[in-house]
Amino acid sequence: SAKADGRSCYKFYSAQMNAAGVQLLALEQRLRQALDLGEFSLAYQPQIDARSGKLIGLEALLRWRNPELGMVSPIQFVPIAEATGIIVPIGEWVLLEACTQAQQWRERSGWDFEIAVNLSARQFVREDLCATVQNALERSGLPARALELEITEGLLMSDPAGATRILTNLRDLGVKVALDDFGTGYSSLAYLKNFPLDRLKLDRAFVKDLPGNESDCAISHAVIALGHNLGLQVLAEGVETQEQRRFLADAGCDHFQGYLFARPLPAEELDGFMDRAENDWGQAI
Ligand code: C2E
Ligand code: MG
Ligand code: MG
Ligand code: MG
Repeated sequence: SAKADGRSCYKFYSAQMNAAGVQLLALEQRLRQALDLGEFSLAYQPQIDARSGKLIGLEALLRWRNPELGMVSPIQFVPIAEATGIIVPIGEWVLLEACTQAQQWRERSGWDFEIAVNLSARQFVREDLCATVQNALERSGLPARALELEITEGLLMSDPAGATRILTNLRDLGVKVALDDFGTGYSSLAYLKNFPLDRLKLDRAFVKDLPGNESDCAISHAVIALGHNLGLQVLAEGVETQEQRRFLADAGCDHFQGYLFARPLPAEELDGFMDRAENDWGQAI
């Protein structure tokens, strides 16, 4: 009967949901273990000055290699780490590891570049965020102005007043803040002008089809103008071709990041390049 069907249907979904719950718990345990066993590492992707072609920063990107699962993309595991809260201790590890590695390269090369670290919403709203950041700076010896924290629009817009307070505290520490994936979220321009930010990162979605796509050309121009009028620097993400690079440079974009220049690289692979950090990175490496 229909009723019986309905019930079995309900049972089916409920069993599926339990399975999903069990899976989430298992993944959380795996992530927790991964942290203890040292399965996480960082890849570093160069950020390039549009005019000089010189290295101005590195973005630290989390990597997870599990013996059974192999390499797992952060696109897959970061959302789970966020949902379970395990991103907090993982993020703390990322922060200290990135600051320590960056300071080591800075000292060795004598080159003054920034290290960018992604922050999750869970980390951003924590009472001890500033203490955690301060601790990573002190332990690594990295000057505050060489650290940039990347946050996303959603995190600002869900509680603009709270976010302003947190950003002001971070600014008091002397660290910088970039708005990541800009254009994909729901930024209110009215709020945007009040947030103490340093940089907009134009999302790859708008860069991908440059310069052929007219809408994306218009959007890129608009974001660069908006950023500059708000006193912010603008970095384009996901620059893969010389044509994209030329278009964005002509549009006045300040900084580039993307496969054209370099993929995110493990620290060992960057070692050799960092000694020549003052070189022209405009040549793809
Ligand atoms: P994101 O912060 O926007 O990082 C940029 C992503 O674009 C990276 O993916 C990078 O490898 C990729 N990318 C860079 N240049 C190009 C390009 O030219 N073409 C293409 N197709 N892709 C490019 P990845 O490393 O897989 O990271 C994905 C996302 O995972 C990040 O996006 C960030 O949201 C998150 N994530 C990574 N590491 C961390 C972390 O330590 N903490 C947190 N909370 N999130 C992280
Ligand atoms: Mg980022
Ligand atoms: Mg991004
Ligand atoms: Mg992105």
